[in-house]
Amino acid sequence: MWFVHFAPGMAIALPPPAMRWPMVPLERVPPSRFTPPHCPWPECSSHSPSSGAPFRFQRHGSFQRLCDRRRVPRFLCLSCKRTFSLQTFAFSYYLKRPTLSLPNDAYFHEATRLLTLLAGKATSTIRLLTDGHSDYLRAIRTHPDGHRFEHQAFPNPERGPQGTPRSPEAKARDAALFPVDLLHRILRHTIAHHRRETIAFARRVEGVLERGFLTAIWRNFVKLRSERRPDGGTPAMRLALTDARWSWQRVLSRRLFPTKTELPQGWDDVYWRALRWPDPTRMKPHELTHAC
Ligand SMILES: [Zn+2]
Repeated sequence: MWFVHFAPGMAIALPPPAMRWPMVPLERVPPSRFTPPHCPWPECSSHSPSSGAPFRFQRHGSFQRLCDRRRVPRFLCLSCKRTFSLQTFAFSYYLKRPTLSLPNDAYFHEATRLLTLLAGKATSTIRLLTDGHSDYLRAIRTHPDGHRFEHQAFPNPERGPQGTPRSPEAKARDAALFPVDLLHRILRHTIAHHRRETIAFARRVEGVLERGFLTAIWRNFVKLRSERRPDGGTPAMRLALTDARWSWQRVLSRRLFPTKTELPQGWDDVYWRALRWPDPTRMKPHELTHAC
């Protein structure tokens, strides 16, 4: 509800005006479905017609964009005879690297990759707890092994200011997603550069991920499950992967050969520092032969 102020002490409640704004980025609208709403040239009489007459235009061929190979339709304004394209109305009109700013289904693709990894490891039904992000739901729905996942969603409920008692939904969510929240807290607490840009900040994306691998080893093999109840052992002991807590000396007691270890898809690129960065001059691929 919006309030409009008329005079001191007097306000009248009005329903908010309906906000009309498209759901889908223009770049994803099929070219045949797009009709230009007005002439983009400010000097043209069809730019802001006063009469409310419909905008008169003709289709005028198309072109293919070099950066993403997308076919973009062109139009001809019948008032000023100038031409323009669908791209003229897109947010990415002025951007030289439009792919850097557009949502590109990253959550969906990552979730799909994770489901593939999990489905390959487990033999029975996999219980999956998430915050109900729509991309996770879509990934489970479209995955060939989606039926093997028993999915429970706990969306983040609304919370009051600090100190407010938690609602039953908030309690259920916190109990179900405790392991995720705990890992998040541990990462923020123990890896300074995940919190803010410090002198420890990695210069390459792979550097961040490599520390992530170290953190996974530390969390699972070196650190106890609970600091308050040290008799519980480490997570790796709980899964019977090992029967004792590991020291760093033990973790680093041998060298592992990448040529003898099968790595999941994507890990290879991290190891060989071959991830592609949008600007190759800023992060060159690693090319030293004897450094791995
Ligand atoms: Zn025009």
